[in-house]
Order: sequence, then C-alpha cells, then structure tokens
Amino acid sequence: MKNQTDKPDYEKLVEEITGQNSSICYQCGKCSAGCPVREFTSTPPNRVVRYFQLGMYEKALSSPTIWLCAGCMTCTSRCPKNFKLSNFMDALREISIKEGFQSSDKKSVAFHETFLNQVKKFGRAFEFGFIRDYKLKTGQFFQDMDVAPSMFMKGKIGLFPHKVKGKEKIQKIFNNIK
Ligand code: SF4
Ligand code: SF4
Repeated sequence: MKNQTDKPDYEKLVEEITGQNSSICYQCGKCSAGCPVREFTSTPPNRVVRYFQLGMYEKALSSPTIWLCAGCMTCTSRCPKNFKLSNFMDALREISIKEGFQSSDKKSVAFHETFLNQVKKFGRAFEFGFIRDYKLKTGQFFQDMDVAPSMFMKGKIGLFPHKVKGKEKIQKIFNNIK
C-alpha cells in the first residue's frame, strides 16, 4: 500500500501523459465488450477507468488488467466519447512502475519487462532470449513446452538475435526515456 501522504496527483499525471481527462468516460462498457483480454481478467477495462474516476488509484494502478492490455486499440476505436483508453492503459503502466505499485499478476509484468529489455538490447524481440529470460524471471520452466518443438520446426523461435537497422537509435530512445 502506498503512503497516502506523499501521493502524487494521479489525475494530473495521466492528463499530462495522455492529453485527456478520464472524467469524459461515461461507463457505457462498449470498450470492454470488444476487448480481447476481457475474458482473462475479473476487472474489465472500463472498471479500471471507473476506479480512477472515483479516486481509487491503488485499485486502478495495481490492476492486472493494465498489464494484460495488449494495446490493440479496439476500445479506442469503439468509444463513443473518443476516450483513448489504450493510451490511458499505457499511462497507468508507466505510473504504476514509477510509483512502485505491485500488480497481483507478476507474470504479465515480467513479460512486459522482459520484452522491453529485449527490444532495448537487440532492437526487436529475440525469441529464444526472450523465452529464456522470461522463464528465469518467473520460474515457469515447463510452461508451453508442448508447443516448443513445432514452433522451432516452423522457424518461429530464432536461436540468435535478428539483425536490425538503426539499433543504436532504438537504444537512444530508451536512454532518453530514462
Ligand atoms: S467505451 Fe469509452 S465511454 Fe464507454 S466505458 Fe469505454 S472508455 Fe468509457
Ligand atoms: S487496447 Fe487494451 S483495453 Fe483496449 S481493447 Fe485492446 S486490450 Fe482491451
């Protein structure tokens, strides 16, 4: 639980990052109805917005939903209020990391961190390294082992990092973000 005395103005932070205020959402639920990850979470995306509107920041910023969000933008394209929910989810992830909120879904957080580390190092995901690092982080050594052989055979898991043009520029972006 965060110390409430040094709590930042989360509304303002989200507004600065996304350029929009969550109060415009009127909870019609259209976003959640089309969200591809809705069935994997007990907190639909529109409820995350509701928590935020009600000042229940701990719940919004610790929600596994923000880490499950695939950034597909289905919600954004469907919203009758033109609320960019995918940007809102991005902002919540960013604030959640900065402010040290703990999601109960540690595996999704580990997935994001591992993926970004790969992009930072190699300019894009290096499949074998990604799987190795993710498994080391989570201890899920035998998860999805049944599909590994066919993925290898189909060339979906590269054993070596891909050659990527402009890798240094990508690393520069990461350094600037720091
Ligand atoms: S579709 Fe838009 S207005 Fe409706 S609940 Fe989702 S974010 Fe809010
Ligand atoms: S961007 Fe995230 S919240 Fe929106 S529909 Fe896609 S997965 Fe769901």
